[in-house]
Amino acid sequence: MLLTILGGCGAWPAAGQACSGYLVEHDGFRLLVDPGYATVPRLLERITADQVDAVFISHGHPDHCADLNPLLRARALRDDPPAPLPVYSLPSALDAVLALDRPGMLTDAYVLHEFNAGDQIAIGPFRAQTRLLPHSVPNAGIRLTAGERVLTYTGDTGPSPDVVDLAHGADLLLAEATFVDRVPQGSRRHLSSARQAGRQAKEADARRLLLTHLQPGTDATAARAAAEAEYDGEIGIATSGLTIDLS
Ligand SMILES: [Zn+2]
Repeated sequence: MLLTILGGCGAWPAAGQACSGYLVEHDGFRLLVDPGYATVPRLLERITADQVDAVFISHGHPDHCADLNPLLRARALRDDPPAPLPVYSLPSALDAVLALDRPGMLTDAYVLHEFNAGDQIAIGPFRAQTRLLPHSVPNAGIRLTAGERVLTYTGDTGPSPDVVDLAHGADLLLAEATFVDRVPQGSRRHLSSARQAGRQAKEADARRLLLTHLQPGTDATAARAAAEAEYDGEIGIATSGLTIDLS
């Protein structure tokens, strides 16, 4: 299983960067997880739009799904459009982004597979166990298994035993860490810090931890140090272009 980070900014894309976007490949199958703001130009530096085999979206916030629109445009507006793109999301999560263009323009470009959090779904060679994790809108964390490797991604979430459960023994925990240490009062149930991500990686006994969704301006060194205070394993920061081979 090969993971390529397209972007790792939380909330909005910093100069020259992109929001959440992760390309996960196994056996030639390319799964795009969370096409957030500015991720499509990063994607198109690597592959063509028609080479994406499926998309999984954790929740409907635009920093996680806005670039579904340019991805679908890049497929639909070709002279020879590829087959409809399978898109997996929670019910109604994509209503807004799918309504950006005039009705019907992109209808043939995708097939929407809405799942309920808790469902286990098959996406190409991946088994995907989903779980509802606490956020300000419904958010599905995902445990992706392929070729005996496991990648767990939180989407956006406050701390929860369900994160630990979903990441149990994972080869990599890709964890939202909007803040370094202190989470503002109003966000405590819905977002996490790098320290909390480290604590949950330890509790889950995950092999590696990759911090993502850092709010622009966050000191990445401080975020890593906060996670290191809780977790002994290897810790990285998700930045555009980073590739991790989990095999
Ligand atoms: Zn969110």
